[in-house]
Amino acid sequence: DKLEKVSLSSLLKEMLNFMYPRFTETNIVTISQVEKDVFTEGDSSQIKQVLLNILVNAVEELSGWSGERKIKVSLMKNEDDMAELSICNNGNPIPDYLLENVFEPFVTTKSLGTGLGLSVCKQIVEKHNGTIEVSSTRDDTCFTIKFPIS
Ligand code: ADP
Ligand code: MG
Repeated sequence: DKLEKVSLSSLLKEMLNFMYPRFTETNIVTISQVEKDVFTEGDSSQIKQVLLNILVNAVEELSGWSGERKIKVSLMKNEDDMAELSICNNGNPIPDYLLENVFEPFVTTKSLGTGLGLSVCKQIVEKHNGTIEVSSTRDDTCFTIKFPIS
């Protein structure tokens, strides 16, 4: 695997720009708070894949949501000196029975889904010595990823 110093700040902005046409097409409003110069060590194309899988899931979820559609993204150095990145969307919450299994391969609720997106995310994040967690309430579904800071 490639190892390089990766600006999570730049990668996140790049992926938000890449997704922007899909956001507008789907009437999604985005709110982002991205701290500058948050770096980790790793493979930038793999980390892009992680961000993309989660953002695409958010768009897919919101496509079927008839209310306001919002995605909130943030990146900061947290109090434990980790890079903490979160991607949240409103919409229908993930049911409890699914919440424990969303990172398992082939778990999907979509008729044409593969159920591989989040399992790939978890593999990539853990290879980077990071963690990934999900929380889901009536207000929002959030994926929180922590990476060691470089
Ligand atoms: P796929 O997108 O192919 O179904 P994923 O691994 O990306 O596979 O996601 C697994 C399942 O987790 C989805 O089918 C969906 O039920 C649930 N899920 C993932 N992200 C979200 C989200 N942002 N909001 C609601 N449900 C989600
Ligand atoms: Mg997916």
